[in-house]
Amino acid sequence: SLTFRLTKGGITILPFTFHNPTRIIFGEGKASETGSITATYSKNVLLVYGGNSIKRSGLYESVVNQLQQANIRYVELGGVEPNPRLTSVYEGIRLVREHKLDFILAVGGGSVIDAAKAIAAGVPYEGDVWDFFTNKAHIQAAVPLGAVLTLAATGTEMNGSMVISHWEQKLKRGSGSPLVYPRFSILDPTLTYTVPANQTVYGSVDIMSHVFEQYFSLTPDTPLQERFCESILQTVIENVELALDNPEHAAARANLMWCGTMALNGGQISLGMQNDWASHGIEHEISAIYDIPHGAGLSIVFPNWMKYVYKERPDRFAQYATRVWGISPEGKTTDELALAGIEATRQFFTRIGAEATLSEFNIDDSQLERMAEEAVRYGPIGSFKRLHKEDVLAILQMCL
Ligand code: NAP
Ligand code: FE
Repeated sequence: SLTFRLTKGGITILPFTFHNPTRIIFGEGKASETGSITATYSKNVLLVYGGNSIKRSGLYESVVNQLQQANIRYVELGGVEPNPRLTSVYEGIRLVREHKLDFILAVGGGSVIDAAKAIAAGVPYEGDVWDFFTNKAHIQAAVPLGAVLTLAATGTEMNGSMVISHWEQKLKRGSGSPLVYPRFSILDPTLTYTVPANQTVYGSVDIMSHVFEQYFSLTPDTPLQERFCESILQTVIENVELALDNPEHAAARANLMWCGTMALNGGQISLGMQNDWASHGIEHEISAIYDIPHGAGLSIVFPNWMKYVYKERPDRFAQYATRVWGISPEGKTTDELALAGIEATRQFFTRIGAEATLSEFNIDDSQLERMAEEAVRYGPIGSFKRLHKEDVLAILQMCL
């Protein structure tokens, strides 16, 4: 088999500590245990959810029945937006304080769970919760939370990160803390049968992008982590179209869901590796202004980021091309192989229906300057290649 080893002895896995406290309850039908599991944590709960998807699917009715049966007092915060907004977070904080609740149950996709985390961190904080997203304050305490996941995508169900939009200021920012890992997450793949085709695609692009952020690393000699990454990428690639052809494909939905969780659960697949995260930073600037789905933005940004940076380490991209896409190295230079892998990525995203250009969302070049500036507000981004404002701008221009 093909391996591309950079070092002969020398630097390998960087020092790390790892602790993931989230209890995972995985399996078909496990959503029916929401009430009994929640009851072991609390009897006074803020129930957070998004738009109408959980009402249409019947999950909402099931969850509130279970909470009632378990004698749990609950207050509802519905209507959390995709790309969740600070205003919803404020409302949640207000409800928890006013009703003296001590646990948050998030039922939904990444947006709902992220909002729940921000609420959890905001409740015990005297200042403005937005401070956590602008590097003005660090999370020191949080209300415990649990989650019932309805969409395979973000990994937020088993990590300590969250992303919130400040709609009025057109900013989207991340924050995180070990304190906001969910206490438990229920992963019932049957809940994702109702996820529409476009969200299935965007979620899958997000999962693959989380892996890319970790896999394209300068850390020299980390074969186990690289194979973890490659196996997730291959599994997503093998399963997306099965789920698109048959939304109730049990195995495809289960595998996508588990891939989503494993791809970003506190960095388990890339421990001891330097991560990048520049493409996420750039995408957030796009969805901050234009409110496009995160996965759609990543489908546009990532292949262009790859083209912009691959020369930093063509061997890793060549390994990606051969191992993930099965491209033969025969007769190709390392650079040609690297570029073929990038092209395969673009083709795949396009084939499953994810956008390739900003113009498909009617986004022109008028805000690119601002996006580039905001992306590097706290300094250059990325580690595979450090990106300054002019680099981000160049990548955004490739995205038009
Ligand atoms: P989402 O924004 O939570 O949901 C997208 C859409 O899918 C919503 O309209 C939602 O409808 C619908 N939906 C969810 N579950 C459904 C189901 N079972 N059936 C039918 N429709 C369903 O999508 P997401 O990709 O999971 O989350 C995206 C957000 O997470 C972005 O803000 C992104 O920046 C962030 N993110 C966070 C992390 C992290 O580590 N925390 C990582 C990556 C991205 P309803 O509103 O009606 O439910
Ligand atoms: Fe993401």
